Amino acid sequence: MKMRRFLSVLFIVTALFSTFSCSNNENNAPKKAKNVIVLIGDGMGPAQVYSLILTSPEATAFERFPYSGFSITKSASNEITDSAAGGSAIANGTKSNNGNVGLNADSIPMPSMLEIFAEQGKKTGVVVTCAVTHATPADFLAHNVTRKDNEGIALEISEKEGLDVLIGGGKKYFTERKDSLDLLGKMWENGWNIYDSLEQIEDNGAKTMVLTCRKHIDKAPDRGDFLPKATAKAIEMLDNENGFFLMVEGSQIDFACHDNDSATLVEEMIDFNNTLNVVLDFAEKDGNTLVVVTADHETGGLTIVDPQGKYTRTDFKWSTGSHSAVFVPVFSYGPGAEKFSGVMDNTEIINRIMQVAK
Ligand SMILES: [Zn+2]
Repeated sequence: MKMRRFLSVLFIVTALFSTFSCSNNENNAPKKAKNVIVLIGDGMGPAQVYSLILTSPEATAFERFPYSGFSITKSASNEITDSAAGGSAIANGTKSNNGNVGLNADSIPMPSMLEIFAEQGKKTGVVVTCAVTHATPADFLAHNVTRKDNEGIALEISEKEGLDVLIGGGKKYFTERKDSLDLLGKMWENGWNIYDSLEQIEDNGAKTMVLTCRKHIDKAPDRGDFLPKATAKAIEMLDNENGFFLMVEGSQIDFACHDNDSATLVEEMIDFNNTLNVVLDFAEKDGNTLVVVTADHETGGLTIVDPQGKYTRTDFKWSTGSHSAVFVPVFSYGPGAEKFSGVMDNTEIINRIMQVAK
């Protein structure tokens, strides 16, 4: 008797649930993302994020992400990765050796997610505060056995098809070259709009490159609101009916941490936070954009402690001028964002993005 009642209740609950799920989702297919924006805080471990939370008077952008996880960052060659191998794993989904850009562990070039999305007909862009030839942007744009070959990476970028917007520094690698090639002139002839500042941009649908300085852009706060502004401009230029892929890097979080410079770290995190808010505001309005935020590795071995062990004050303590081997966070928002929770290898991130992107 009891069993029969249980079965009939179960039947009613099941029927109700299936009616509910049918009426809310016609074919039960999960929603796909038309646009994908990946933001990388170079050197941004959990303590770097927490440094912003401790010093921010308001809730941070990180608290706007409904899902978060942890990424394992070791490279093929080292338990402590550099930016080249760490960024490559995110960009193309394979472990490679420290120093390599856009290759797998056998030094074979691997297509980056930017290249895959371009092949699929999406517009693509990269926005950074370092030279555009630096390790992380190079991982998405080039393939080279050494990150130090800035001029070779610039040459590859100058000939790149399927790239629509590139904003950062590093002009000297295009113009002051050992081979005397005038890469900017060549790109201009090939239809690129090339500018020195964001203010000069005229969006006429052409490919657009902004190189604001010879090498890296100024550190925060000296560069003003360059990164959030450049990110907003890139989104405006890339947004189209086939969708877009954009990679944005808070490049100099890493620089501040290499210098063990706590005040500049907080300024860089404020700048990255403002950039995240620009991206999330767009994604919220758009409804078709997946946003994934992560890091290539932690820099500085940062901990935040009371040196007296009394819990009454907080001091930033740095344990290295180099990188460390700790988890880095992953935050996600938008269609398919739930796929980025839990512990994942950094090579998994591209797979999960590809499952979600349409
Ligand atoms: Zn570094």
